[in-house]
Amino acid sequence: MAHVNENFTKLKKNYLFIDIAKRIAAYKEKNPDKEIIRMGIGDVTLPLPPAVVEYMKRGADEMGVKETFRGYEDTGRGYDFLKQAISDYYGKRGVKIPLDDIFVNDGAKSDTGNITDIFSEDSVVLVSDPVYPVYVDSNIMGSKQIIYADATAETGFKAMPNPSVNCDLIYLCSPNNPTGAVYTKEELKAWVDYANTKKAVIVFDAAYEAYVGNINLPRSIFEIPGAKTCAIEMCSLSKTAGFTGLRCGYTIIPEELKAYTSDGGKVSLRDTWTRRQGSKFNGVSYPVQCAAAGVFSPEGQVQVQANIDYYMENAKLILSTLKSLKIPCTGGENSPYIWFKTPAKMTGWDFFDYLLDNIQVVGTPGEGFGQNGAGWFRVTSFNTHELTAEAMNRLKHLLN
Ligand code: PLP
Repeated sequence: MAHVNENFTKLKKNYLFIDIAKRIAAYKEKNPDKEIIRMGIGDVTLPLPPAVVEYMKRGADEMGVKETFRGYEDTGRGYDFLKQAISDYYGKRGVKIPLDDIFVNDGAKSDTGNITDIFSEDSVVLVSDPVYPVYVDSNIMGSKQIIYADATAETGFKAMPNPSVNCDLIYLCSPNNPTGAVYTKEELKAWVDYANTKKAVIVFDAAYEAYVGNINLPRSIFEIPGAKTCAIEMCSLSKTAGFTGLRCGYTIIPEELKAYTSDGGKVSLRDTWTRRQGSKFNGVSYPVQCAAAGVFSPEGQVQVQANIDYYMENAKLILSTLKSLKIPCTGGENSPYIWFKTPAKMTGWDFFDYLLDNIQVVGTPGEGFGQNGAGWFRVTSFNTHELTAEAMNRLKHLLN
């Protein structure tokens, strides 16, 4: 008889975006002629930059020619041409990343979800509340114990380490999804020192690093001294370069990073992850890796920045609208997410329905990200200028 992995029965029944989709579908059925503006979903709207398409086409053409055709990639960890481009990208900020520390993947979600495989089942995992739900779900599936660190308005929605709390694995996301909060170098240094003291490992999700415009804010945890002995970094080209439908990202596991066996022996996490990937992952397709190399090309970098600037214009407008309405809000400055307090003490879900019913604008209730999200709401800057402006006009009229 097959027994189900009962960890799956411990997951919350409905995933946030399924709930949202159901409410939108029900509204649309009753109001088929109303135009809904989606400010909730975290998907990009601009097409791929031309350099990315160009590089991908070149890769696809090579696959159709005997001399340049490629089958399985030897290691499944990414071609050197892409790893070199990634390493150079970090090098520009003074961060040295050897090619052997880089693992190319099909987007950050896979590795943020799978990394828990290489940690002991009795690990205590610390996540912030509110939290990107993947960290919680994947660790429930992996039988881990989860503890929460508060990220509230009082701390600028940034969880900070508490020396009296012990944990083995820590998930940090900066710029943060959902709150848009960004850690300073000093704040990240506090986490790095805490993790090194506790011999814990930080999983640093840098999926939105490209949105950090302020040069004084860190885009990588490896900008922080001491991080290589305590951190793994995960990055994605999804929001950086419109890869949500193309799928490519990368994980960095420094050679210096170790975890411990029950008898105190030290084990390389880079080698352990290599072993895990060797059994369960056969790499990213060649044309997609070429497309990813296009992101890091000189022309690609200019085009990618133009797209990010486009979204950040939207963020600016959203932020100024909320401020003019005197609504407490955060994010939107070095992040595509804006997080704000619901008016009149509404719950996030009540406010969701209120916006949908009255102005047909869709956002994401903070409750979907944890207890501390209650009464807060997330909107994103990924829509067009026109629709963002229209949504903000509607919001102004409604709340004025
Ligand atoms: N990490 C965070 C914080 C995200 O918000 C997302 C996507 O929304 C991901 C990871 C996953 O990105 P990808 O599309 O690369 O799987």
